[in-house]
Amino acid sequence: MSEVLLPGARIGILGGGQLGRMLALAARRLGYRTLVLDPDPGGPAAQVADGCLAAALDDADAVRELARACDVLTLEWENADAAALREVEATAPVRPGPHVLEVAQHRLREKDAARRLGLPTAEYRPVRNRAELDAALAALGCPAVLKTCQGGYDGRGQVVIQHPAGAGAALAALGGEGADLILEAWVRFRLEASVVVARSVSGEIACFPVGENTHRGGILESTQVPARLPAPVAREAQRIGEALAEGLQVVGLLAVELFVEEDGGLRVNEIAPRPHNSGHYTWEACVVSQFEQHLRAVCGLPLGSPELLRPAAMVNLLGEHLGAGGAAPCWAGAFADPTVALHLYGKREARVGRKMGHLTALADSAEQALARALDARRRLGGAA
Ligand code: AMP
Repeated sequence: MSEVLLPGARIGILGGGQLGRMLALAARRLGYRTLVLDPDPGGPAAQVADGCLAAALDDADAVRELARACDVLTLEWENADAAALREVEATAPVRPGPHVLEVAQHRLREKDAARRLGLPTAEYRPVRNRAELDAALAALGCPAVLKTCQGGYDGRGQVVIQHPAGAGAALAALGGEGADLILEAWVRFRLEASVVVARSVSGEIACFPVGENTHRGGILESTQVPARLPAPVAREAQRIGEALAEGLQVVGLLAVELFVEEDGGLRVNEIAPRPHNSGHYTWEACVVSQFEQHLRAVCGLPLGSPELLRPAAMVNLLGEHLGAGGAAPCWAGAFADPTVALHLYGKREARVGRKMGHLTALADSAEQALARALDARRRLGGAA
């Protein structure tokens, strides 16, 4: 288990989106070979990997085939089939392990795990029916957020309940009686932050700097680093990330999204055991990127330094920023500022809300970097 996988080894990646693509690019640079499991053999990761097994992620036969062909399996999508992965662990190590996925796939288990480790979250209650929802609303007050325990992402699968009278509609919108839901108290946060932590096979831990995130329509809009937080709060955010990675025995990356309250109090919102959109800036701004760090962790190599070399900001490019349905993007605009790097994910169709790429800017301050990245996005010519 603790054997080191050296360059030349074959890494199986479950999921073929942009995270898998950037993992495969980092792997290629380090001399590893990658095989991607994804239904689309022409998708973002498959375009740059050494090979693609074109099948659904929950196709147990395909997962077995991937394990037989690879020295280690990892993933870019935490909703991979944990049971299928458990079955192949004897063939190839799965990092992070299925036990981590089972927690990260389920908002209630996620919050229970954080609480068991003594880490703060929003107040919450499990909800399966109207009676439980009414009781939970009485306990937590309004506004509150009702969320599906599984399958929600980018703000989908959740409804804000402003008044108890909205309970019935919220429940109906998320599956009705018997649905697996969680009600969370509303957190009056000052800002949203995230940390990406790596934990290797040997238990070594390294945490990237804290990112400050903005969202639009439930989708990450920008990350600026360092976050505008007092040093003790930033250190506490990193400590929380490290405690979760250690407590869950993660091997690989763990991204932890946090709410920062007015008084500097922190609450864990969500975890993701994989490279994270809010860690894309590390590609240009840190000694090693989150993608290289993930590979180092799952291959049993020593971790690289997560040190921030320069303040940075990342903005996402969604379909609408690339002129979805309208004019073609002005690519020259993205290249006009020499401090801005463009990443495109190779997706064929630019749809509104679809993550197509991102821009990273480096500057003397995070605010300046964010302004540069946003300017570059504006010059691309799509929506502001
Ligand atoms: P999530 O899918 O849990 O990351 O939620 C998406 C976004 O909804 C978050 O980034 C927050 O902006 C907001 N949100 C989610 N949960 C809460 C909460 N309990 N209190 C306040 N805002 C929330």
